[in-house]
Amino acid sequence: MLSFKLVYSADYFLPIGSHVFPADKYQRVCDRLLTNGIAAAPDFVSPHPAIDQDVLLVHTPQYVQKLKNGTLSAREELQMEVPYSPELVRAFWQMAGGSILAADHALHDGVAITIGGGFHHAFPDHGEGFCMINDVAIAIRRLQRDDKIRTAMVVDCDVHQGNGTAVIFRGTSSPIDPLTASSEGAPDPAHQTRLNQQAGDVFTISLHQENNYPAFKPRSSLDVNLRDAIGDAEYLACLGNALSLGLSKFHPELICYVAGADPYREDQLGGLSMSIEGLKERDSLVFRTAKAEGIPVMVTLAGGYAQKLEDTITIHCNTVVAAQEVFGTEG
Ligand SMILES: [Zn+2]
Repeated sequence: MLSFKLVYSADYFLPIGSHVFPADKYQRVCDRLLTNGIAAAPDFVSPHPAIDQDVLLVHTPQYVQKLKNGTLSAREELQMEVPYSPELVRAFWQMAGGSILAADHALHDGVAITIGGGFHHAFPDHGEGFCMINDVAIAIRRLQRDDKIRTAMVVDCDVHQGNGTAVIFRGTSSPIDPLTASSEGAPDPAHQTRLNQQAGDVFTISLHQENNYPAFKPRSSLDVNLRDAIGDAEYLACLGNALSLGLSKFHPELICYVAGADPYREDQLGGLSMSIEGLKERDSLVFRTAKAEGIPVMVTLAGGYAQKLEDTITIHCNTVVAAQEVFGTEG
């Protein structure tokens, strides 16, 4: 039995046919968690789908209409890189509802994990890179609307930059002073850190491979551009620095951790060299930091395209294990 909730619905399944995105990975993660005794049935809660009103907190009415009516242009569907269907719309609405529920549970239990979500390439007016709507942004805006939180921080550790998230939260109204620190730390061959002068009510951190999709990377509040093929030690040092810097500038009421499995060295769409153990240590570092700061964490799984699907499943399951190791113990 876990000390927190896992959010999941069989309706997370993405009907996209044969695709580099393993559409059944969510079910497989749940099966593995249960089979290995990491989680038990009562640990799971099932979300309602998001309602259109929630989605409209982030996305434009025109875009939502196109998704509901099936009137995306051919170019828009191509850019999304997943085949449009009304069933796919339902799956994304379901996962957005899951992220809202996970954020809500995180506020009560310190942490909650949805076995899905993390669609950080979705912009207000279009989808990209397998992402139709930005579930994490929707969850944040919904909790803000309900007066449950005022501020949030997105910690995006998917190997690809969180371009949609960066744009959604760019220039939002700020209850705090704008950042005053300048960008660029000491030159380091492993990475380049860019701190944006503009911060709103949501601070976005993206730690990603620089030479990878998306080609154009709109500025997050804090971007860490990692060079190709860095391994565990360098990655973890960069993450530790990014968390310290971000939290020295901004103290959020909720962290949304985008726990992509694709920094893995055998990922088909990634070019970093992290091990499975290093990725678990990454999760643990985020959780330990959040716990030490007293900030609840909502977790989404995001990408993962390992040559062996079993490795992707292991990395995602380890995120649950790491959360239990950190949050399941006192102190
Ligand atoms: Zn990714």
